[in-house]
This record gives sequence, C-alpha cells and structure tokens, in this order.
Amino acid sequence: MVSQTILEKYAELSVVVGVNIQPGQTLLIRCAVDDAFFARLCAKRAYELGAKKVIMDWSDDTLSLLNYTFCSEEVLKQVSPSRVMKFDEVVEEEAAVLNIIAPTPGLLAEIDPAKVASVSQALGSKIVKYREYTMGNRGQWTIVALPSAAWATKVFPDVSEEEAIEMLWNAILASVRVSESNNPVEEWAHHNAMLSQHNAILNNYNFKSLIFKNSLGTDVEIGLVADHIWAGGMEHSTKGIEFNPNMPTEKSFTMPSTTHVNGKIVASKPLSYNGHIIDDFWIEFKNGRAENWDAKTGLSILTSLLETDEGSKHLGEVALISHQSPISDSGILFYNTLFDENASCHVALGRAYPMNVKGGVEMSPEELSAAGANDSLNHVDFMFGNSDMSIKGVRQDGELVTVFENGNFVF
Ligand code: ZN
Repeated sequence: MVSQTILEKYAELSVVVGVNIQPGQTLLIRCAVDDAFFARLCAKRAYELGAKKVIMDWSDDTLSLLNYTFCSEEVLKQVSPSRVMKFDEVVEEEAAVLNIIAPTPGLLAEIDPAKVASVSQALGSKIVKYREYTMGNRGQWTIVALPSAAWATKVFPDVSEEEAIEMLWNAILASVRVSESNNPVEEWAHHNAMLSQHNAILNNYNFKSLIFKNSLGTDVEIGLVADHIWAGGMEHSTKGIEFNPNMPTEKSFTMPSTTHVNGKIVASKPLSYNGHIIDDFWIEFKNGRAENWDAKTGLSILTSLLETDEGSKHLGEVALISHQSPISDSGILFYNTLFDENASCHVALGRAYPMNVKGGVEMSPEELSAAGANDSLNHVDFMFGNSDMSIKGVRQDGELVTVFENGNFVF
C-alpha cells in the first residue's frame, strides 16, 4: 500500500499547490466516504496553514446508484435546502474548494440517461451561484484523484483487485509528480514555470492558425480566434490568488475558430465516451465543421456524439502537450479525462472555455459567441498527438514558426 509519507505529500500538494488555502479562508472538501482518510489529512494540513474552517461534502457511489435505481425522478430532483445552503456558504465565505474524486467508470450506465441528465440539471439550477463562483475562478478550486476499486480494475483488468489498486495509485502519483524522494511542491513550481513559459511564447506569437501533421494521417489547419489566450497549468483567482484547478495538468490550450478548420484529424488514442469506446477514428473538417468521419470501433457512438447539436460538429479547444510527459510515458488509458486529456495533443468537440478569449469570463453567452466561442452541450476531448507530430504556427503576416518537432515543444 501507499505509505503515510506519500499520502501526506499528496495532501500537502492538494492543499498548497491545488487550492493554495489562505490563512483565514474556509475550505470545502468534496470527497467519497471511502476516502475519508485522505480528506482528514487535507483538512489537518489546511488547519495547520491557517484555514478558518473546513466544511465537508460527502458522497458515496454505491448510495448514488441505489438512489438512482429506486427513487423516482421527481424525488431525486428535490434538492434539500441544507445541501443548497452548503454551496451558498462557499460563495458567501469566499471559500476554496477541493474536489477529491475516485470515479466508478460506468456507474450509471444502466440508468436512463434522460433521468440522470434531468436530476443533474435540477441540482445545477439550485447551485447557480456556486457554479458561477467556481467556473468564474472567483475562488480557488482543484480536482485531485484517488483510485477506486472499480476504476483500478477497469484500467488494469488482468490483475487482482489489490494489485490493480496499487498500480493505479502508482500511475496517479507519477502523473502528479509525487514520489518518496522528491518535494512535489517544488516540482510543481518548476512544472508551472515551464507551462507558463509555453503560454507566454504562444501568446506572444499570436498565431492566426496552427498546422498539424503526423504519420497517422493528421493533416489539418486549425484557425485560432482573434484575441485568443493560451492558458494551462497555474491559474489566478479573480482576487489574484494562484491555484491549480487540475492535478495532473500538462497542457497549453486555447480557443479554435468555429469556421476555419480544414483537413483531417486522426485520433491517436481510443476515446471513452459515456461508457463506450470509440477507436481508430478520424474526422474531416471543412470550414470549421465536421463533414466526414469514420471509426473502426464505435462509429454509431461517434456519429451520435457529432450529431448531438450543431456545436458538437465544431471545435471548442485545441491543446498542445509534449509527447514526453509522465502520463504519455505511462501508456495507460485511464478512462478519465482528468488524466487522459494530458497524454497527448487534443482537440475538444463542443463548448469552448470563456477564459481562452480576452475578456471572455465577463462576457454574456451572446458576447462569447460573437467573439467566436463555440457553444454546445458537449465538451469531449480526443487525442491526436503522437511521437512524430509536427506543428507549425502561422503568424498574422503569414510567417511560419515551428512549434512542435517529433512530438515535442521546440521551446
Ligand atoms: Zn477539454
């Protein structure tokens, strides 16, 4: 099993680098009951660093599944006032939010998707202020992961459950740069400095478009919106406090054009979507829109994904990740976006992030769409980077600049 030292280092990383708790600040920890041991370590560290108080939001996948199986949709849609108050308290207290996830892949696969969607929409509509608070980066928040037995055996199906959990622990710890011998907080300072250097260089070039080519058959020019912003790694809350929303993170990402994407993107890794696998697939874009596609596995799933709404046929994110990175080196498919999206260069079909265009976080939906941001119910990342990916940036005057060679950043 994982040693106490390692657990304490991971808790320290979550509280210091993840949410960067401030003296006098309240911390909300959202965690599964099975992982209480880790939440306790995080709470202790937060108090040692001067947190005012720690509020807990406990969950349990087994109970969630029982509720979805036996309760009516009407009952599930009744969000209790005490639950709403907890989220309101986060906003009122200007708290930091630590999400500790230990997902169960396919947990609700047998439940009617319409029921799941309408229940999560009901909760969402009751906690609008909280969602605006976190999505608008008004307070610090982060997501870190722990293994669950179900997740571990999905990722490592050929070994015993105990071995699988051990292997997933090791994979998670490697990807977040925690080891017996290192200081993860220092490693992350170094890592964030590299990511922000990439973002600064890319922002400085202010490319009109990026041209991607590799031996798998990707050959595409992806336009970038005017006033796009490259982001990734450390972010700042609107109060200026540094935090890392995703741990791990390896990407520099920005907002692609909805009208200037031309060519073919060939996936380099399987895509796990709503519990289904889409593999060996490609999508051809014309004037920003997916016009042709094919998949050796899961073609009907890919088609239904692309046909969800008009926005699903357009891109909402383009992300650059060097081929040499801990997650990519592991070669593991995690069946979880927090990890898999950091393995390789990717694009997302669907909704764009407001933060990727100047002034975007303050814009109304109409203003965002006028600025070129794609909108959709979906935001689905798929990987297309590999070891021989080349990327050239096209500057506003047409000059070409090499960004990637042999799968990696050149700067
Ligand atoms: Zn994404």
